[in-house]
Amino acid sequence: MEAPIALNTNWGMLGHEWAVNLLRRQIADGRLGHAYLFTGPLGVGRRSLALRLAQAVNCTQPPAPGEPCGECRACRGFGRGQHPDLLLVERQEGDREIKIDALRALTRSLSRTPLEARYQVALILNFHHASEEAANALLKTLEEPNPSVLLCLTALDADSIPATVVSRCEVLRLRPLAPETLTPALQSSLGIDAAQAHLLASVSQGLPGLAIRMQQEPALLESRGQWLDVLHDLLFANRVKRFAFADKASKDRQQLKNILLVWLSFWRDVLVGASGAGVTLANVDKAAEIGSLGQKIGFPEAAAALQAVERAVTQLETNVNARLALEVLLLELPWLPS
Ligand SMILES: [Zn+2]
Repeated sequence: MEAPIALNTNWGMLGHEWAVNLLRRQIADGRLGHAYLFTGPLGVGRRSLALRLAQAVNCTQPPAPGEPCGECRACRGFGRGQHPDLLLVERQEGDREIKIDALRALTRSLSRTPLEARYQVALILNFHHASEEAANALLKTLEEPNPSVLLCLTALDADSIPATVVSRCEVLRLRPLAPETLTPALQSSLGIDAAQAHLLASVSQGLPGLAIRMQQEPALLESRGQWLDVLHDLLFANRVKRFAFADKASKDRQQLKNILLVWLSFWRDVLVGASGAGVTLANVDKAAEIGSLGQKIGFPEAAAALQAVERAVTQLETNVNARLALEVLLLELPWLPS
């Protein structure tokens, strides 16, 4: 029988207890892997878990095996994401990919001994942004691991990165948290009431990172309501009005991405409502509107609208003209009689 985990801190993570328990036990038993791949949607906690792992392996005064104290120099540095032995690589603003030079420089740095910590930790964020060639630059490091190096990658899913890399990593799949897990976790960690925690847990669709951001930046939660109202109006609007919105909204690509993510959650809800499945809605505060729209347009049209928004989101990730993508989307959304 395995020893019970007495500690209840969960490394300060919201949810993902199974992953924390697994990693903690590996450290305590001296079975730490040399490379980990944390997969899951943005905001689920991949980066946070990697940094907690970096703390746990480097903590100089662990209160228990595999448990970071959170206070020593290593814990503070890795916790902030700033430590001389933390090497962070990600796609730079404006670049299409993670640069191969950045990964080559990383592998060179990893061949030296750590400056002060037990492990040098390389954290490569969103590895699905690396080209196959760039990924290959990392293979040697993965195949001939330096015992004082811990490699942590994050990605949307394992399918989005080369199999040669995945097969050399231990893969931890982080999934969005169920509302009944996230709600109490948000309540205690943010000190908010149950109603607010429930709203954040629903609207964030179980993503703790997004929920926390929405609590810290109330404008995000407010603009969600605004973008849902705009969508509602557009469904009754004619072609001229739809294109006028496309013209205006496409000028701010980043904001447009946020708008489309809100719309995505809305259409998922409509689809859930139209299918009659008793699943919790993301936009709990719009339940009445979602229900009546689902009845009005039916399942096929709701599914088509969801696909159209998904397509537009994907197109915005590449270099497609934002206005064109939005115009196409707006022509594909349902036309309700005004
Ligand atoms: Zn510590």
